[in-house]
Amino acid sequence: MTDTRAVRTRTRGARVRRPATSLVTDTMHADAGLPTAGTGVLDAGALGTSDLDSEMDVATELLLRARDVVLVAHVHPDADALGSALALGLGLARRGTPVAVSFAEPVAIPESLRNLPGGHLVVRPEQLPENPDLLVSLDVGSAERLGSLARLLHTCRQSLVIDHHPSNTRFGQFHLVDPSAEATVVLVARLLDRLGIPIDRQIADNLYAGLATDTGHFRHADSAAHQLAARLIDAGVRPAEVMFPITESHPFGWLGMLSTVLGGAVLDREVAHGRGLVYTVIDDVTRGGLRPEELDSVIDILRTAQEAAVAAVLKQTDEHIWQVSLRSRGDIDVAAVAGALGGGGHVRAAGFTHHGDPLLAIDALRAVLAG
Ligand code: AMP
Ligand code: MN
Ligand code: MN
Repeated sequence: MTDTRAVRTRTRGARVRRPATSLVTDTMHADAGLPTAGTGVLDAGALGTSDLDSEMDVATELLLRARDVVLVAHVHPDADALGSALALGLGLARRGTPVAVSFAEPVAIPESLRNLPGGHLVVRPEQLPENPDLLVSLDVGSAERLGSLARLLHTCRQSLVIDHHPSNTRFGQFHLVDPSAEATVVLVARLLDRLGIPIDRQIADNLYAGLATDTGHFRHADSAAHQLAARLIDAGVRPAEVMFPITESHPFGWLGMLSTVLGGAVLDREVAHGRGLVYTVIDDVTRGGLRPEELDSVIDILRTAQEAAVAAVLKQTDEHIWQVSLRSRGDIDVAAVAGALGGGGHVRAAGFTHHGDPLLAIDALRAVLAG
């Protein structure tokens, strides 16, 4: 990056431009991540690069200069979050950068993701350095989704948020946020190219897992995403092998649990101005010790109900805490619905956390969908 290029950022609603050479700061601006107004020059709008290009430039620069990097996925990571962290972690490690990958919960890598290459980079939260040179969050829409690791936002030297959630709150200091990207791994693939890091088989496996997961197995993938998939397959990925533990493998007890929770599903046709809501509740007893992977599979079946525009699964995570998954099959934006209830996500797939009686969560959902 040369002196003539600039970092775009926002200060009190105004665009500012400052020399890219000032990118690496001595102090962390953890809360807003913005330079004070005095450090920038007002941008006349003649930069010629889009905000996203600028964000990509900044992210590349940060990763190139970082002395050590902590990569953090959201709590209860999925294949996009962990795959992004492992792919970038493997790539940076090959450049000689010290890296560690982590997530606040659960204590171990979810079983279905344990075959992803790079698991040796994963460390427990308490083993992470408290003052990493660069903290990178991947697939994390808000600081709350970092769980207890949100504390590192205040102790790291610099932080970078790489994400594709439209609901991203732009927490942290620097951002590479592209809601048009199908998955965070798409942004990681672009970054690896910028960094000149070859996408080998191990990195490709991680990228493929995230891409397949977040595109609903390529049903929501544009041609560029299919081209990325082709490139990953050319790098050695065997799609069926990578995806088998993630989507094709459940214990026998899953079948009984499905029978109970699908049989107990409720269709409320009046909700959302007659467009309909289908929902079911999975409490700890019904769960019967099954993995989160088994619980997460239920929404994909429930959402196929033709009579309902919105599907919801309420999963008990603690005595009084419920994780609610939402899916939309029409034009209802469930990211906005989840946002109104304290969560976030994407237009067709979102979620929120509810404290208290699960039926009150349904009432709250009904109320938001009536709006
Ligand atoms: P899930 O239903 O868990 O597959 O999540 C669907 C989408 O909603 C993902 O993009 C999640 O990041 C997002 N999401 C799920 N739960 C929450 C939550 N409690 N808060 C914010 N975003 C969430
Ligand atoms: Mn995710
Ligand atoms: Mn994602």
